[in-house]
Amino acid sequence: MRAEKNWRMKQLKTRFDNNSLELLPTKEAVQGGKTQKDAQYFETVIIGTGFSGLLAAIRLQKKNLTDFVLLERGSDIGGTWRDNSYPGAEVDIPTGLYSISFIPYKFKKRYSPQSELLEYTNYIIDKFDIRKHTKINQTVTKLTYHEDNFLWHVETASGKRYIARFIIDTSGVLANPHIPDIEGEDTFQGAKFHTGQWDHSVSYEGKRVGVIGSGCSGAQVVPSIASKVDRLTLFMGKAQWIIPRSDRNFSSVERFIRYLPGVRHLNRFIIFAYHEVRFIAFRRYPLTSKLSKFIKNLYAKNLKKNLEKYIDDDNLRQHMMPDYELGSRRIIPTNTFLPALARENVDVDISGIERITPTGIKTKEGKDIPLDIIVYATGFYAYSNMKRHSRFRCMVLVVEILTVNGKQRLSLIRALSFQVTLTILK
Ligand SMILES: Cc1cc2nc3c(=O)[nH]c(=O)nc-3n(C[C@H](O)[C@H](O)[C@H](O)COP(=O)(O)OP(=O)(O)OC[C@H]3O[C@@H](n4cnc5c(N)ncnc54)[C@H](O)[C@@H]3O)c2cc1C
Repeated sequence: MRAEKNWRMKQLKTRFDNNSLELLPTKEAVQGGKTQKDAQYFETVIIGTGFSGLLAAIRLQKKNLTDFVLLERGSDIGGTWRDNSYPGAEVDIPTGLYSISFIPYKFKKRYSPQSELLEYTNYIIDKFDIRKHTKINQTVTKLTYHEDNFLWHVETASGKRYIARFIIDTSGVLANPHIPDIEGEDTFQGAKFHTGQWDHSVSYEGKRVGVIGSGCSGAQVVPSIASKVDRLTLFMGKAQWIIPRSDRNFSSVERFIRYLPGVRHLNRFIIFAYHEVRFIAFRRYPLTSKLSKFIKNLYAKNLKKNLEKYIDDDNLRQHMMPDYELGSRRIIPTNTFLPALARENVDVDISGIERITPTGIKTKEGKDIPLDIIVYATGFYAYSNMKRHSRFRCMVLVVEILTVNGKQRLSLIRALSFQVTLTILK
């Protein structure tokens, strides 16, 4: 198998080394071909329109490679910040860094809420006129690489088909909501939805709400809705490393100053460096082990102090102190989650869910908790899209070979590597 693959790659490389890129079918040849009559041809198909997809499109445009299409399964362009509109949704990396380095924006807050990130997304879309390249309601269901003519065949759920020389897969790491399989789920008579698919037609004010999950989304939803609901029950999973953060609004003068190129880049670097230094605490490098221990102790002391301040119940306090090292799972930077748990109308269940009933949730301790709404703050099937498109690696390989031969091919690798850079910055 490996020998055959190597042979194929050698053949491919020879063709490119001989500068025979023109051996690849032209757009006209493909469109005129018998078997592909019903498929649209583009030089490049980009899957998804989150930040990565937009960046790929911008980079291609900048190199005058404008024969591309973005295929988006949603009914609008956007990605993460279009989908995650739940109350309290916001970024947990300051937007000074969580933004595109060459597309500045006058953000109003250190940590932007979802609404501002969506505004920023739309600003990018309009600035680079990306709508005209996008086809919405196009869920890519299958990618097939035809090695005989070096073309990708793209199938979509709508039945439309596309053919491309290059695929840039930006279909997202945290794009597919994970809903756990809980017995009795179908019997529930109230409203239920995932944080990533928040149903804004359902009012939660004055209602009894159950939130399943206490990771990043759970820790944002709970404080945002706790004061408006009648009763909130949080079904808490494993303890999380909850760390403090300093958020604030920017004045208009500050927004202007932060927008200036020198200040902006310095600010970006400082935020980046701060997060990198903090990362040392997560690792066990021999040289930095003392610093790592010091930072870990600092966070542990802080969490202990806050748990003592806000959580009266001994069992819950103990449950909420992680028994694993800082950095083993995603950390939760928040100042509002613990105070919300201390509210009189908020309960926390740590016994676990036995099953969902028509009127609420039965816990493993045998308690029946009546609910009007169930919110799944249960995260995502991480990387599930990439696993599905098993030929993704082959696409990367083709792009790598193309770098051998000159300009156009180099552009494509830049588009891709920018996407990779964004992933690394995440
Ligand atoms: C609630 C939440 C909070 C987050 N907070 C942070 C944070 O604070 N800091 C941070 O660094 N990262 C955060 N992230 C990660 C975030 O996903 C990335 O930062 C970034 O927005 C990802 O951009 P993307 O373009 O790669 O993917 P996405 O924004 O997920 O975009 C993927 C797009 O592909 C589309 N798509 C998927 N499958 C298909 C298909 N088969 N066919 C066609 N289209 C498809 C989707 O509809 C979507 O529009 C958060 C994620 C979530 C969900």
